[in-house]
Parts: sequence; structure tokens; C-alpha cells
Amino acid sequence: MVSPESRHGIGVSPGTASGPVVQVAPPVRPPADEPAPADAEAAVAEIRAALESVAVSLEERAATADAHAQQILKATALIARDKGLMKIATAQVGDGLGPAHAISAAVESYAAQFEKLGGYFAERVTDLRDVGARAIAAVLGMPAPGVPVFTTPSVIVAHDLAPADTAVLDPALVVGIVTEGGGRTSHTAILAAQMGIPAVVQVPRASDIATGTLVALDGDSGAVTLDPDEGFLAAQAQKRERRAEAFSHATGPGATRDGHPVALLANIGGVDDADRAGELDLEGVGLFRTEFVFLSASTAPTVEEQTEIYRRVFAPFEGRRVVVRTLDAGADKPLAFADLGEEENPALGRRGLRMSAERPDLLDAQIEALAIAARETTADVRVMAPMVATAEEAAWFARRVHENGLPKAGVMIEVPAAAMRAEHVLGEVEFGSLGTNDLAQYTMAADRMQGELADLLDPWQPAVLDMIAVAGEGANRAGRPLGVCGESAGDPLLALVLVGLGISSLSMAPSKVPAVRVALSMHDLADCQRLAHVARTAREAGEALEAVREAANAEFTQIL
Ligand code: PEP
Ligand code: MG
Repeated sequence: MVSPESRHGIGVSPGTASGPVVQVAPPVRPPADEPAPADAEAAVAEIRAALESVAVSLEERAATADAHAQQILKATALIARDKGLMKIATAQVGDGLGPAHAISAAVESYAAQFEKLGGYFAERVTDLRDVGARAIAAVLGMPAPGVPVFTTPSVIVAHDLAPADTAVLDPALVVGIVTEGGGRTSHTAILAAQMGIPAVVQVPRASDIATGTLVALDGDSGAVTLDPDEGFLAAQAQKRERRAEAFSHATGPGATRDGHPVALLANIGGVDDADRAGELDLEGVGLFRTEFVFLSASTAPTVEEQTEIYRRVFAPFEGRRVVVRTLDAGADKPLAFADLGEEENPALGRRGLRMSAERPDLLDAQIEALAIAARETTADVRVMAPMVATAEEAAWFARRVHENGLPKAGVMIEVPAAAMRAEHVLGEVEFGSLGTNDLAQYTMAADRMQGELADLLDPWQPAVLDMIAVAGEGANRAGRPLGVCGESAGDPLLALVLVGLGISSLSMAPSKVPAVRVALSMHDLADCQRLAHVARTAREAGEALEAVREAANAEFTQIL
């Protein structure tokens, strides 16, 4: 008997799933033999109708999406109705191009203008090309690229998913996600985990798996199995049940077996996430990425608008902790109203707190709104700055937070300089939180947006673990609590190592909490310290993971 074909990628959202594949159609190119239009007016009308149909279909999808996805889809629909785009396409038809080529040329010319403008506009180029690809498919009578409409629970397979595609996936119909590109900390990974959909990225030749093929995926191990037989599916279902049963026993505040407390917290990106997370067995929010709320805003939100949003985010967490991060704008998360112009290396540029230093008006408005909303709730509101590199920056930020009557200021430790000098940086604030996504990117000098560099970005890299250990020792000397809110906090084995390195809270996508809670409940603090030593003694990332798996409680690793 031939065993089913298995491919291995990186599991980024936990759980197992199986179902038929729905391939996300790649963009359609204009045909090389498209004739010049016989009737220019008719060709222009065809383009107008295609762009309008794209705008309408995006708006239709927006109508059933959540607030965050709605913003993204509506902003993309606006591009489809842009008069400037239509004007250039009309001129192209005048120059003798057929409708598909005219749309393509107009989009590219517009994209060049957007790129020249830089910042927010440059970042909209992907959306612009997405609109172009949909309009070209429409004039050619072909299926629209992107996620097609489907009604049977399925596994979505794509080279990579655009943020707009990921944001509108229906968790009731999408049982799993598999991509060829992407990485541990890419948009697809973070959103899939947030929605609780098992996902595997970096799967070789994923785009070749035909629509309709039955696949089974394991979002923990990263295995994707094609045409699994009944025996395989039964074993997978059994594993699912075993895990659910094991997870159901551990509830309440996070703690090691011997009672050392480790707060288990949620990462959220807005009001809808807060509502969902608020109902779960969690100690609060460890990271509210406020920039996610304003990704599509073209002007700065007012103090009143922000206050209302923060009130709604705090409401489900009365009596619990909510750590709000001030705008982390720039690099992979550009905001139109916080754009400081084009930069050669945005990830090393004026992002995060550096942007706030140049636009203190934005920071002050945000802190003021947070202070107002915090006064009206019993939630334990804490305010944290992103991309802090020095003790001076930490002191500057803390002063502004305290002056507004908010007693707890904190900083992300995600720049190696801040990790090395954690004692002094954290000495200026009340708490710290390790952003291991960026800490890995900057420690390993590997762009986190570049899926091909996934191995270097692995948080099990001993150099990253050393960096975390140094930060932990600094926090200890400063007498300040240090948590983790990067994706690594949701890896149950790594969570044990982090606790062994002195980490006092773990914040993650809510779907990752049960496994981490169980992992802690089956190990003493001394076990965690021993596992941390085992991991740091390894020579490379894979070896560190295997050594920890080997040394951890076997009863626990069997559930994984
Ligand atoms: C991080 O860098 O680890 C982090 C939590 O923040 P973000 O992913 O939003 O940069
Ligand atoms: Mg970060």
C-alpha cells in the first residue's frame, strides 16, 4: 500500500483539519494577442463596467465582513472608482490598446505615481494591482483572482494571501489555510491564529495542489497530507479529541505545576477581537495593536473617536488587565496620517516610537483618549511604546503617560539595544514586553516579511534565546516584570523556555492559550529553568527545539 504524500511547512496556527482544497486563483495577465479596439467608446464603456463591478463585489463582501475587514474592502473599492485611474485607461484606449492592456497600463502608470509619493500611497500599490487584476479578469470573462465564493467547508490554498483576502475569510467555511509563501510573523499567520483557523505556511509547491484534492493539515507540526486515507483521518480525529480532552482539565490563571504564576493574555487588533477574547478564560489583553484599527484611515482619528474605541475595547475586560500599545506605524504597518515620507529601509527607519517623537501631537491625542477611557473602567489599563531603543526614549514616553494620570507605562523590548540594556530601559517604566517577532528580525538581520528567511527568523535560534535571557536578567535586576507578546509566546514548548528565562506573562492569539496553559501546568518552574538551559546549550534552532521536546514531560509532548 502506498502511504499518502506528505509535505512539510511551518505550522503557524494550531489544530488539525481536513477538507477539499479551494485554490486561490492567481492574477490573470492580459492576452498577448488582444486586438486593438474597433470601437474606442465601447472599449472605454467595457473598462468602466469592469471597474464598477469590481467596486460593487468588494462592497458586497464588505457588507458581511467585520469592522476591520470592512475598512480594508471599502478602501479598495474606492480605488476601483478612482476617476484618475479611469482617465489614464481611457487615454490608453485612445492610443490603441485593448481593454485588458489599457487597464494593465493604467494600473502600472498609477502604481509608479503611488510609489513616487511613497509611504501610505506606496503601500496601497498591492491593493491597486489587486483591483487591476480583478478588472482584467472581468473584461476577459474569467474568474476573479483571490478567494472564490464556495459553500462547502474547505482548505484554502494559495501562494500567499493578501491582507484583504485573509481579513474576510469566513471561519465557518474555512477549516484550514495552506500557503507556499509567508512566514511565522506574516500577516496571514497572525490573522489565521487570531481567527482560530489551523494554518501552515512555507509549504513546497502548494499552488500545484489541484482544487478539490482532499488534504489534511496539522497547524502544530506543519505537515500537509494529500489524499489522506480513512485510517489517517481517523488518527487525526483521535488526536484532536485527545487534545481537547487534555485541554479541558486546565482552566483559570496560568501557573506552573508548583504554582509559579504566569499570566496568560490575548493579542488583539480591535473591538471585535476584544469582544471575542473577553468571553474566554484569559487574564486580560497583553497586546492591543492599536495601529490595526486605523490602517485604512486617511486622517488622524480625533480624541473623541479614539476614546469611544478604547471604551469598547476595555468593556469586556472589567477587572482584568489591558495592555495598549501606542501606534506602531511604519514599515509593514504604514498609516496614511502618520507618514513621514519615503525611506530607504523602513524597518530601520522612523517607525514606532520614533514616529511618535516626530509627531508628538498624535501620541498625545492617543494618550489623552486612553486616559479618558481608562478613568471610566475598572480594567487595569497599561500603556506601552513600540520600538524603544534607549533608556532616554523610555523615560520620555513614561513621562507623557504619567502626566496624563495613567500610572503604568511600559515598553516593548524588540530592538536588540533595548534587550542588552533592559535594566536601564525598564528602570524608567513599570513593565516590559518582549516583541520576539521584531527581536528575531533585528537580532538575525533578516526581514520578517521575507518568507524565504523563515529559518533565520525562527525564535528557537539560540542567538534570539540569548538575547531574551539577557533582557530577562536585566528586568530582574531592575525589579520589573517582563512578558512576551510576539508569536513565540504561543508555542507551548518555547513558552516553557521563556518562563525558565524569567518571563512573567505570555500574550498570544487566544487559540494558542489552551496548549500553553496545559504545558505550564505539567512542569515545575525548575523544569522550565532546566529546559531553558537545554535550549541555550544547543548549537542551532532545530537542535534546540528537539532537545527541549526530548527533555520535556513525555506525557505532555505526546499530546502535542
Ligand atoms: C513583535 O514585534 O513581536 C510584536 C509583538 O509586535 P508586531 O508583530 O506588531 O511588530
Ligand atoms: Mg514589533
